[in-house]
Amino acid sequence: MKIARIMLSAAMLLQPFQAGAREQADVLIRHATVIDVEHARTIPDQAIATRGEKIVAVGDDAEVAKAWGAGREVDGKGRFLIPGLWDMHMHFGGGPDLAEENKALLPLYVAYGITTIRDCAGDMPYDVLGWRQEIADGKLFGPRLLTSGPKIEGIKPVWKGTLETGSEADVDAAVAKLAGLKVDFVKITDSTLKPELFLYAVGKVRAAGLRASGHIPMALTVGQAVDAGISSIEHLSYAYKAGVKDEARIAADFGAGRIDRAQAQAELAAGFDPATAMASYARLRDRGVFVTPTLNIERTLAYLDSDDHSKDAFLGLIGPGIRKTYQWRIDRSAKATPGEIEARHQQYQKTAAVMPMLEKAGVTIMAGTDAGFLNSFDYPGLALHQELALYVKNGLSPAGALAAATRAGPKWFGVLDRYGSVEKGKQADLLLLDRNPLEDISATQSIDTVILRGAVQDRTALDRLLAEARAKVARWDAEMAK
Ligand SMILES: [Zn+2]
Repeated sequence: MKIARIMLSAAMLLQPFQAGAREQADVLIRHATVIDVEHARTIPDQAIATRGEKIVAVGDDAEVAKAWGAGREVDGKGRFLIPGLWDMHMHFGGGPDLAEENKALLPLYVAYGITTIRDCAGDMPYDVLGWRQEIADGKLFGPRLLTSGPKIEGIKPVWKGTLETGSEADVDAAVAKLAGLKVDFVKITDSTLKPELFLYAVGKVRAAGLRASGHIPMALTVGQAVDAGISSIEHLSYAYKAGVKDEARIAADFGAGRIDRAQAQAELAAGFDPATAMASYARLRDRGVFVTPTLNIERTLAYLDSDDHSKDAFLGLIGPGIRKTYQWRIDRSAKATPGEIEARHQQYQKTAAVMPMLEKAGVTIMAGTDAGFLNSFDYPGLALHQELALYVKNGLSPAGALAAATRAGPKWFGVLDRYGSVEKGKQADLLLLDRNPLEDISATQSIDTVILRGAVQDRTALDRLLAEARAKVARWDAEMAK
C-alpha cells in the first residue's frame, strides 16, 4: 500500500514531462531562423515560446513544439527573428500645445519595430515622465520609454524645459531633483552652461549612480568630458572633434575669447588627424564611453539643398504642429551660400568617415536618430532604419549595425541580461523579418510581425496602427484649415 502510494506520487511528478502534457505558452513562433546578433550567425528552424512578457523557450522547432502549446502560433517559416530595436536618441517636444501630437508618435515606433526609445530631453519633460509610467503600467500603447527628464543647462538657455544652473550648488540641487524623479539617465547641454560647471555636473551625476550624456562645451576637449566621467558621446561630430590634433589649443583659444565659434569650427573642420583620432577612440573604449552617431539627421540637414522632402509620404504621419517646428532648420538652411552648402556636404562626409575607425578601435556604437520636433524629415520609427543603412554605407558590417540597434542600448543601461538577444528568460520584444538583415541591412524594414512585451502585432495590426495615425493627422490638418 505504502509502496503503491509512493509510485503514484512519482508518476504524478513525472506527468508534465510525458508526451501530450505540454506546457502552455501565450505565443509560439514556429520554424523561424533566429539571428544571433552577437556572433553574427543564423540558427535555422527554431521555435520560440513566450509567456507574459518573457521568452520561456527557444530551440529546435520539433523539440520546443513538442514541449509547448500556445494560444497563438506565428508562422516564422522563411523568416528571420531579431531582438526588438532601440532608438537611443530621440526627442519629445515642441511646446506644451504639442503634447498630443508627440504622444501620437508612440505607435509609429512600434509600427517600425522599435520596442525601446531613449528620450534625450525636450521641453515637455514632465509629460514624458508621465507617459513612461503609463506605458509601463499598460495604460498607454507605445515602446518602452526611457527618459532623461529635464536636462541640466546654464542660466537662460536656448532650450526650454531645463534645470538652469549657474553654480555648483545649483548643479547639486538639479542632480538631487533628477534622482528624485527617477530619471533613466541625465542629459547636460551647453548653450549657456559654464564649461567648468559642465565637468562638475558630469562628476556629480556619476557620483549619484546615474549615467551622463550631453553636448560638450566648445571650450573643453572631448577628453576632458571623458575624464570627468561622461557615459556617452551624442552626435558623431564630437567623435570627429576628438580626432582633431589641435583640439586642446582650439578649445583653449575659444575659452579665452581669442577666437569665436565660427573660427573654432573652421579650425576643427580642417584639423582631423587619423592617429590622434585612433588614440582618442582607444580612450573611449577603455573608459566604456559609447558613441551615438545620429547620422540620419546630420545627413538630412547637410543635403536639404538637394533633397526634396515636400512629398515624403511620412509627413502624413506627423502632426501639423511638429511639422511646423521643422521650418526653423529649413529656413536656416535656405540662407546658406553655395560655399556654405559645399562645406556642409564635405563636413558630413568627413564626419561619417570616422564610423569604421570607431569600430576598429572597439568603441561601442549606439544607434540613435535624433528624431522628433525641430529635426526636419528625421521620421520617428523610419529614421532608425535609415540610420542603420547609413552605418553600413559608411563601413560598418550589417551585424555591427544590428548590434548598435539591439545590444548597445541594453549594454549602456546595464540590462543586457534582460534584452538584446533571442534567448530564454529575456524580454519578449521581437521582430520577425521577411529577409535576412545580416545579408542586407535594409531587411530590417521587411517587418512581418512585431512582438512587444509578449503581445503580437502582425502585419495587419501594424498597418492599422499606421492608418490610424494617418487618419488622426488628417483630422488635425482639417481642423487647422478651418
Ligand atoms: Zn538630440
